[in-house]
Amino acid sequence: MRRAPWKTLPRHSSCFRAGDYLPWLLRSGTDMPLEAIWRPLLGEVRVLPTPTGRHALWWFLEHCPLQAGDGVALAGYNYYPVVQILVDRGLRPRFVDIEPETLCMDPERLEEELDEGCRMVLVTHMFGHPADMARIGEICRRRGLILFEDCAHAVGTRWKDMPVGVLGDGALFSFGVYKAVNAFGGGMLVLRGDAAGGVPGPPPASESPLKALLDPLVRALVTLLMTPGLYGLTLAPFLALCRRHFPRLYHLLDPSDNDPHYRFDPRGRAPFQSFMAEMVRRQVARLEAAVQQRRARAAGLRERLAGVPGVGWLEGDRHGRANASYLGVRLADARAAAAFLERRGVGCRAGEFLDVSRLPQFAPWAASCPQARKAEEEVLRLPSYPCLGEGDLDRIASTLREFQENP
Ligand SMILES: *Cc1c(COP(=O)(O)O)cnc(C)c1O
Repeated sequence: MRRAPWKTLPRHSSCFRAGDYLPWLLRSGTDMPLEAIWRPLLGEVRVLPTPTGRHALWWFLEHCPLQAGDGVALAGYNYYPVVQILVDRGLRPRFVDIEPETLCMDPERLEEELDEGCRMVLVTHMFGHPADMARIGEICRRRGLILFEDCAHAVGTRWKDMPVGVLGDGALFSFGVYKAVNAFGGGMLVLRGDAAGGVPGPPPASESPLKALLDPLVRALVTLLMTPGLYGLTLAPFLALCRRHFPRLYHLLDPSDNDPHYRFDPRGRAPFQSFMAEMVRRQVARLEAAVQQRRARAAGLRERLAGVPGVGWLEGDRHGRANASYLGVRLADARAAAAFLERRGVGCRAGEFLDVSRLPQFAPWAASCPQARKAEEEVLRLPSYPCLGEGDLDRIASTLREFQENP
C-alpha cells in the first residue's frame, strides 16, 4: 500500500518557520559579533566566524604549535573529512576506540594509544553526547597535550555545569544544513587561553560573489524542502531519482558513506556572511527550548520502542547532558533497517559516520577499533527534530517495530 507522499519524513529538519528565512532573504545582518551572541552560553571566549566547521579546525591547526609528523589522537568512529584535514596538514592520526555507550573517545584506550609523538587530542562529542571530559582533560593536562573539541553536533550539550566547546584549547562548531543550528552554511572556531588573542581571522574563503550568493541559496532551498510535508513531494522523489540514475549527483546532494578522493579546499566555500550571524543569534536565543523539545522526542521514541526485540539504546547523558541533536539506536544491521525505513517513508541514512580507522585512504595509520566498527554496523540515527508530532513518533516507532519483528 502506498502512503501519501507528503507524509514522508525527512531524516533531519531544521523545523524553520517563515521568519527564520528572513535574514537570508533580506540580507539583513546583525552588527553583533559572534562573541556577544554566544557569551550567555559560552562565556568569555574568542570566537572566529569561519566558512564551515571544517575551516575552523583547519585554521586552528594553522595556528597551533604542531609540526609535520606530530600525532593527533581522535576517535575511530568519526567523520572522515576531519581526519583528511589532519592528514593534509602532515599530521599523523592516531585512532582511539570509542565507548559503546556514548560513541565518544574511550579515555582508557586513549591512555594506551598515546605515544611519544602525540601532541594533540581531538575529541568529538558524537551525536551531541558529551565525552568523558574529566578523564580526557586530566590526561591532556598531565601530558601537556593540546585539546580540541569537535562540537559539530553539540551546541547546547553540557558537561557538568559547563557547555562543551570551552573545555579545551579550541573547538569547532558547524552551522550547516544538517546541524542543530543552521545558518545555511558557516561555522566558528572557539579559542581559549593565552594564545587565543593572537590568532587573526576570519580565514580566507572563496571571493567569488556568485558563490557567496549560490552557496547559501542551495542550502536555503534544501532546508525548505526538508520541511516535513514538503519533503515527500519534492526533495524525496528527486533524491530517489538521482540515486537510481545519477549516483554522482546524488552523492553531491546527500553525501554519506566514504569518499576516498575527498580533499578539503579552503577556498571552496563562500565566506561567513552577516545574515548568518543574525540566523545564529535567533537560534541561540531559543536553543534551550529546542534541546528540551529534542530530548522529549527522543524520550517519546524510547518509550514507544520499549520491549521491541533487538533494539538497544545509547547512553548519551553518561557524562553530562546530551543535546539530543541525534538519536541513535543500536540494531543488528543498521544498513538493512535504514533501507526498510526509507522505503516506508521514514528518513534514515546509514554510513553517515564510519570506523575511519580502517578506511583505505588512511591505511598508513590503520588501527583496530572494534567498538567503532560495531557502531558503524549497528548504530542508526532516527529522526528526533522538534517539529515531529506524536503521530510521527508513532509511525517511526511502528515502522521500526515492524522491521524488527519480521526482518
Ligand atoms: C558536520 C561535521 C563537521 C564539519 O562541519 P562542516 O560545517 O560541514 O564543515 C565536523 N565534524 C562532525 C562530526 C560533523 O558531523
